[in-house]
Amino acid sequence: MSTGHLTIDLNAIAENWRTLDAMTAADTAAVVKADCYGLGVEPITRALARAGARRFFVAAAEEGAAVRAALGPGPMIGVFSGHMAGDSTLIRNNDLTPMLNSVDQVLRHFESLPQQSFGLQLDTGMNRLGMEPAEWAALREPVLQQMPAMIMSHLACADEPDHFMNAKQLRSFREMTEGLDIPCSLSATGGILLGSDYHFDVVRPGIGLYGARPYEAGRPAVTLELPVIQTREVQPGETVGYGNTWTAQRPARIATVSAGYADGLFRALASTLGLWHGDTRCPIAGRISMDLISVDITALGDEAPDYLTMLGAHQGVDDLGDAAGTIGYEILTSLGARYSRSYQS
Ligand SMILES: *Cc1c(COP(=O)(O)O)cnc(C)c1O
Repeated sequence: MSTGHLTIDLNAIAENWRTLDAMTAADTAAVVKADCYGLGVEPITRALARAGARRFFVAAAEEGAAVRAALGPGPMIGVFSGHMAGDSTLIRNNDLTPMLNSVDQVLRHFESLPQQSFGLQLDTGMNRLGMEPAEWAALREPVLQQMPAMIMSHLACADEPDHFMNAKQLRSFREMTEGLDIPCSLSATGGILLGSDYHFDVVRPGIGLYGARPYEAGRPAVTLELPVIQTREVQPGETVGYGNTWTAQRPARIATVSAGYADGLFRALASTLGLWHGDTRCPIAGRISMDLISVDITALGDEAPDYLTMLGAHQGVDDLGDAAGTIGYEILTSLGARYSRSYQS
């Protein structure tokens, strides 16, 4: 087998959900958009449901249908993009709960699916999704008569605990939801860590389920091993890879492993990242190609490893994010479709 192998630890994901749940008196949902951050909606949503999650959130109605197929009837499945034109059948057939974002969406929902549960998304300053305070003030009474299942907003800067925006959005959310007897939700992973003022009735962790920043106390859930296709000796002065960007300064051994930027291992990783064999770090040599990475394994001596570890005990998704100038979220959701996958439980 020449593809890399991704191992997803369902126990770690379930444990992370439980430890986040233990930090709050609120009901803990699970955000499972983008195929559970690229890791596989069916096994992960089932593991989360077994751990106790009863509310799930996705970005689009199509994703909600996949979650419903995995979980069957019962759990609430909220859709952040709300009720988009053309989605009524999907919403009804899969019993989804769209988080309505605008006057247009409210009208569409009440006209096409008056009996179907819905929530509301309010904008508290991020200016991305949700109704503005003035729109909400105008719609509030008629909408409340239809009994929304939830009212939510989203924090823009929750990963920076000292950012003034957190308190500002908290104040705005409180003003817009004051006196309502409807479940309210403001916080994703970062907001949970800000403390109980931010928790309200429902919290919505996503990235924290995988033990990535900002939930650094969580257990990492992903291992990625790349098979070695070939090893070779190079002499001082010989170059490796596209553009001749790496030149041997001494006799070196180079392993060529199977995975590249087409598998979500961005070219920008090459300059600072290593792969691991046990506790030994082996730097990347030269550029990352589409399907291949060259690794300087001189430090391993005569050992001939069958694979090298890209994500594991020594190096997690946030390390790759740092090395590529991005965030762990983007690393996870970029992991390619070519890897073979196994789910540990
Ligand atoms: C993605 C998302 C979440 C989950 O965020 P994390 O930072 O991954 O915990 C929660 N709420 C909304 C509206 C989101 O878009």
